[in-house]
Amino acid sequence: MTPVIVVGGGWAGLAAATELAAAGVPVHLLESAPQLGGRARSADPGGLAVDNGQHLLIGAYRETLQLLRRVGAAPALLWREPLQLSVLRAHGTLQLTAPPLPAPLHLAWALGRADGLLPGERRAALAFCLRAWRQRFHVAPDISVAALLADQPAGLVRALWEPLCLAILNTPLAQASAQVFLRVLRDAFTRRRHDADLLHPRTVLGHLLPEPARHYIEQRGGSVTTRCRASALEFDGNGCSVVSATGRQAASHIILATAPWHAAPLLAMHAPLQPLAQQLTALGSAPIATVYLSYPADVTLGRAMLGFEHGLTQWLVDRGVVCGQRGLLAAVISGPGTHMALDAKALGARVADEIAGRFRHWPVAQQIRVVREKRATFLCDVGSNRRRPSHATPQPGLWLAGDYTDTGYPATLEGAVRSGVQCARRIIDLLR
Ligand SMILES: Cc1cc2nc3c(=O)[nH]c(=O)nc-3n(C[C@H](O)[C@H](O)[C@H](O)COP(=O)(O)OP(=O)(O)OC[C@H]3O[C@@H](n4cnc5c(N)ncnc54)[C@H](O)[C@@H]3O)c2cc1C
Repeated sequence: MTPVIVVGGGWAGLAAATELAAAGVPVHLLESAPQLGGRARSADPGGLAVDNGQHLLIGAYRETLQLLRRVGAAPALLWREPLQLSVLRAHGTLQLTAPPLPAPLHLAWALGRADGLLPGERRAALAFCLRAWRQRFHVAPDISVAALLADQPAGLVRALWEPLCLAILNTPLAQASAQVFLRVLRDAFTRRRHDADLLHPRTVLGHLLPEPARHYIEQRGGSVTTRCRASALEFDGNGCSVVSATGRQAASHIILATAPWHAAPLLAMHAPLQPLAQQLTALGSAPIATVYLSYPADVTLGRAMLGFEHGLTQWLVDRGVVCGQRGLLAAVISGPGTHMALDAKALGARVADEIAGRFRHWPVAQQIRVVREKRATFLCDVGSNRRRPSHATPQPGLWLAGDYTDTGYPATLEGAVRSGVQCARRIIDLLR
């Protein structure tokens, strides 16, 4: 039987190929890079075993958790804790802890009892949640998250909403889509208490999904080829095929599971697909920078992560706590900003200085490694939901999967996995 070819071995492509393999559909996955994982992959800057960026999952990532269970990675490879947010403010620390109450009472309790909020901020935060609840976490037409938060005190926006918005959408408040922001808040806080749990990979990302998924696919007769870039997609009366350095391979269906900026040139080679290529190009992108700082093994935050109301670093994750790399901290800077003008050395030094100023008793960082992803995510701006394509394309047999398709989710692991799984299910239905 002619296989389905999946182009791209990121989390969307791996999810699609795993779903197909599980259904007994022959599948071949091509990945241009030497390793699988795409924008969520292991990296080793300067010999440090880390990732291309610190990744956090939440309990509401249903499809991702199901996929990780299927390939044997969850729950063992995830470090899980009930929602705990600590953000360092100019005057104290905002400390929000979800108690063991059913959703959404746990959120109301957490906000009502949070330390480090001024009384007006607490009231405003609760009023915001109540309003969102009444509006079923939906706003139409779409507006910016800044507009959604227009009545919230500036300090609360800086300490809570802005770091959350950047972590979820990787898009600045003034541009970020309120529809997508509310969708994630709804999924995380209104259904089951454990949906709000925070899950950190206990291992480098390559061991979490890419390697177990590859094993799973190959065990079921599928194949995976890395260092193999698809250079063209071909369609004629007899079907479709993928052209790469290894030749032309016929496919029953093709799932193009690359980032939108890599899908667009492959689509643009075909006149009927040029409008779709333009639609993908119009999505735009946003960066994420991660600065890894190595300290002596006894240096620790004493918790998984800490946010900052002011400064360049938005979140600091202690990899000693979450994955046993003692003394290694990851400083995360999501979205665009003035830091983009700094070169890697200057950015690393700025972040290290910032941390030294906050933790004066810590020794200086022994090693600093900067990983920058200029196109980490698509820009999840106002109206972006309308510009996101579905899986089906005008070309029969050609399908799209990736975090940017119309799942309603921002560019996240869950968005990518949902997209891959849904796309594969549509093909499985057609092949039955
Ligand atoms: C630094 C960083 C931090 C992040 N943090 C989080 C987080 O905390 N939580 C979260 O949920 N999400 C996070 N994300 C987002 C998440 O990683 C992405 O949404 C997700 O990985 C996208 O997966 P994808 O499969 O859609 O696309 P990709 O990962 O881009 O996969 C596409 C794959 O296609 C391959 N490819 C491209 N062109 C070709 C070709 N012609 N032939 C063959 N292969 C090709 C690429 O090499 C790539 O492997 C983060 C992303 C980054 C970059």
